[in-house]
Amino acid sequence: MKNAKIRTQTGLLIAALIFVAIGYAVVVGAQRLIADSEWVAHTNAVIGQLDELEATLRDAESAQRGYLLTGDADYLADYRNVRDRLPSTYEKLRALTADNPQQQARTRVLQSQIELRAAQMAATLQKYQQGGLPAAQAAVGAEVKDVSSAIRRQKAQIVEIEEALLVERDASSHDSAQMLRTIALLGIPLGLAVIAGVYWLLVQEVRRRGQAEAATSDANAQLHTGLARLKRNSADLRELSRYGSMLQSCIEPAEALQLTSRMLSTLLPGTGGTVYRMRNSQDHAEAMAHWGEHAADSAAMVAPEQCWALRRGQPQIIESEGMRCAHIDASGKAVTACIPLSAQGVQLGFIYLSDENAAFLARMDIVEAAAEQLSMALSNLYLQERLRLQSIREPLTGLFNRRYLEEAMARELSRCMRRGLPLSLMMLDLDHFKAFNDVHGHAGGDALLAAFGQLLQDQTRGEDIACRYGGEEFTLILPEADLNTAMQRANAIRAGVEALHVQHLGRELPKVTVSIGLAGFPGDGNTTDALLRAADEALYRAKRNGRNRVEQSNTPIRA
Ligand code: GH3
Ligand code: MG
Ligand code: MG
Repeated sequence: MKNAKIRTQTGLLIAALIFVAIGYAVVVGAQRLIADSEWVAHTNAVIGQLDELEATLRDAESAQRGYLLTGDADYLADYRNVRDRLPSTYEKLRALTADNPQQQARTRVLQSQIELRAAQMAATLQKYQQGGLPAAQAAVGAEVKDVSSAIRRQKAQIVEIEEALLVERDASSHDSAQMLRTIALLGIPLGLAVIAGVYWLLVQEVRRRGQAEAATSDANAQLHTGLARLKRNSADLRELSRYGSMLQSCIEPAEALQLTSRMLSTLLPGTGGTVYRMRNSQDHAEAMAHWGEHAADSAAMVAPEQCWALRRGQPQIIESEGMRCAHIDASGKAVTACIPLSAQGVQLGFIYLSDENAAFLARMDIVEAAAEQLSMALSNLYLQERLRLQSIREPLTGLFNRRYLEEAMARELSRCMRRGLPLSLMMLDLDHFKAFNDVHGHAGGDALLAAFGQLLQDQTRGEDIACRYGGEEFTLILPEADLNTAMQRANAIRAGVEALHVQHLGRELPKVTVSIGLAGFPGDGNTTDALLRAADEALYRAKRNGRNRVEQSNTPIRA
């Protein structure tokens, strides 16, 4: 930067010096040219003056000769006129040669020769006036001729010297012109070259500055985006940590999924999302929570082999074309991302995101961090769910236990009371089970109990609650079902037991039957105890009336 400035300034200084030198040389050259041409004019003036002097002398001689030959007084007057002009002509010549003492000396000699010639002419005239033409002719002797040729020689010498000077001055003037031309021819291109050099330097400098400015503004822009990203990241991190702590407080998986929907829809506005939960059987992932609008739809049920994220255990991001998962509708041009959810090597499901543009991919880090937190939370919640189920289910039959029966009865009874709906209760007891046990052993009895539990579960609807009440006694709560319905269902179960085939230790166990007692709300009471007692009483009657039958509580049925 500093060097460039110094170079530019030096270049400009050199260019200025060159032009000053050119200017100076032009002034000096022009002065010389003017002086030389003045000298040339001066020389010409001297020569002209000499010519005039000689011509004046010739004029005087010819006028005198005319007078001598004709005696005409006009010639005489002419002669005198011309003769009188001679002194002023000398004067001019002397003045012109004042700068050159040698030439002046020579002109002085010339003057005296002319004066001598003038004296000769005056003498001849005098002779003419005294003795006529013959006297005058006699007076013109050889000296007249000598003087005349001396004058011619003297004048020729002076002219010769002046002409020599003229040649010299002409040469000098030519030199000056040549010098001026050389200066112009060399100096101007040189000056222009230096200016071009300076211009080039300036252009370089301007370009460099432009680049430096662009770099600075680039850096600035980067700083700004960096700052914005930092701000956004820190906001995202705050949101993530809030999400994490809220996940800790979730008590069931559905709640965690809802929370995730809210969090991701705020984090990625405009992006559609679905959370899939892997079923216990691990054969399908099921869409559980959804937000926003998808740019590409995805199936509600996804087999693990249909999703690359589940297969590879890594996020699968497709920006336009590529290995799009089979569960995604690949007809449009969407940006899609599947992020697997897993903890301790167990697949829990995945998050599916889709959008029309790829902007949301910039925040995948945070999404993956959220997915990790969600995985941990879901893993914990599933574990809790399993533990809770274990605490309310009975392991041999997989049915609810007695503790849960009481809890469920209280809840369902109050719900049906609130809504004015009926509720039926079935109590079931296998017939002669003691004897069965005695013949086939406790393990054989257990196999039969397990098969009976499965049958009960198969025969119940989603809202029914089947429990193992104790031993080989079972209860079935039928919310919203009246006694007529319950009677039909009980007979179906009874027939089902009759038709039950149970394999144990490679052979089929003999058939068993079941007796069933029915009670109903509101007819038989409105407490768990009252209804259980009524159902138990009906069961007792069924046993007493021959087993393998259904009896209902004595309370008459209200149609
Ligand atoms: P009834 O037709 O009158 O019901 O005759 P029962 O032999 O079934 O008589 P009861 O219901 O009083 O007998 C219950 C028997 O069920 C006693 C026991 O041997 C058997 N039992 C109870 N709990 C279990 C169990 O968990 N496993 C097995 N294998 N047997 C059980
Ligand atoms: Mg019993
Ligand atoms: Mg029994």
